[in-house]
Amino acid sequence: MRRFLFYFYSLFQLVNDLSKRVLITGISGFVGPLLAKKLLSLGYEVYGFYKRRADGYVPIRLRLLGLHNSIKLIEGDLSIMSSVIASLRESEPDVVFHLGAQSFVPRSFKDPIETYHVNTMGTIYLLEGIRLLDLDSKFIFAGSSEEYGLQFIDKRHYQAMKEKYGIIYPEPEKLPELPIDENNPLRPLSPYATSKVHGDFSTRNYYYSYGIKGIVSRAFNHEGPGRGPEFVTSAIVIQVLELIYGKRDYLRIGNVNAFRDWSHVNDVIDAYILLSEKGNPGDVYVVGSRRTNSVLSFILLTLKEFGYITEKLETLDGSITVKDPIEECGEKFFGLNFFKTKVDCMLLQGELEFELKHKGIKLYTSKGTVTVKFDPSKFRPSDVPILLSNPEKIMSLGWRINHSLSDIIKDQVAYYSDMELRKSIKPK
Ligand code: GDP
Repeated sequence: MRRFLFYFYSLFQLVNDLSKRVLITGISGFVGPLLAKKLLSLGYEVYGFYKRRADGYVPIRLRLLGLHNSIKLIEGDLSIMSSVIASLRESEPDVVFHLGAQSFVPRSFKDPIETYHVNTMGTIYLLEGIRLLDLDSKFIFAGSSEEYGLQFIDKRHYQAMKEKYGIIYPEPEKLPELPIDENNPLRPLSPYATSKVHGDFSTRNYYYSYGIKGIVSRAFNHEGPGRGPEFVTSAIVIQVLELIYGKRDYLRIGNVNAFRDWSHVNDVIDAYILLSEKGNPGDVYVVGSRRTNSVLSFILLTLKEFGYITEKLETLDGSITVKDPIEECGEKFFGLNFFKTKVDCMLLQGELEFELKHKGIKLYTSKGTVTVKFDPSKFRPSDVPILLSNPEKIMSLGWRINHSLSDIIKDQVAYYSDMELRKSIKPK
């Protein structure tokens, strides 16, 4: 019996030693819980660093995903060095996935100092903690496509931006600057973006200066179940749900001309895990969908998900009309073939641009008209006009894009239908 117990104990120890320990910052955010769930299913031991709450509650997303008992939660604050170091000492991680940040661009304009405290100092405290505690951890830094900021589509775009900003630095070496890879110039346009540039450079500097095994992922926008309601994809999905359930009469939105490279969050999670296994320390990897679509298309495609097929759109001042705006457009842009709509193509070709003076857009759909009003408060002091990734480098490590734009919309609709509305409102 004693021998049996000894073997059992040794086996238990072996499994324990083999299972990798990870520390995830931002465990109560959008990506953190989903990454934790995946890592747990792969046999990792997961520690989650989350911000202290006065009410003592475990963050809701962890409870909803049933993770609160399987993750070892560590309370702390990224902007306080001692708590960051304590979390590293407690978890002694093989890998740190540093996702924790103030990640909403408009909030960073309102309170830049908060963003810098959390994003820049939080990153430095983690890197410094790994160094001071002499840990051998890999450090995956969640950088962002926002670091690239302004990237030029063509000469006309370059000249318009030069007029707007007075100076462009660095000057482009080629036009178009799309798709974006690891070598594109960084021209961050918000406090959030500059804070991520700081983390990106610091991660690499800690590799060069101290040999810390930091790897930078520059993930483009990622969406899906759990995406915060303040981001445009969720803002659209929630408003469309409210409209359909009779809780609002029109949609309110900001800049619909903006193009984003929207990935499904599960693809990005695969990328983070892959980088922790195969990424080169000191190196940078672009993670994106290799697609770009306009905010306007996201609205039209979300409505389509509910059977509202837009047959025609017209600006509220009547000056612009487009027929069949969601017809698929097969044209190649920037040497790439990707899914896009007719309005995407018209916007990319410069044949179309929506401005505040147009007041909004009326959509004539198969289920009646839908009004979209432009809300001046949703426009930003400076906005990134277009993002489109070239993720070939991480693909060469074996990463694949598994989800379409339609998968993202479907999952986000399902999430918000369940979460926010189904219980509280009745269909019209
Ligand atoms: P970001 O790319 O990290 O800033 O992600 P967001 O989802 O916050 O914004 C994406 C784009 O949508 C930006 O160009 C915004 O200007 C644009 N946008 C238009 N209307 C809205 C809105 O109501 N909310 C947000 N968050 N963005 C909007």
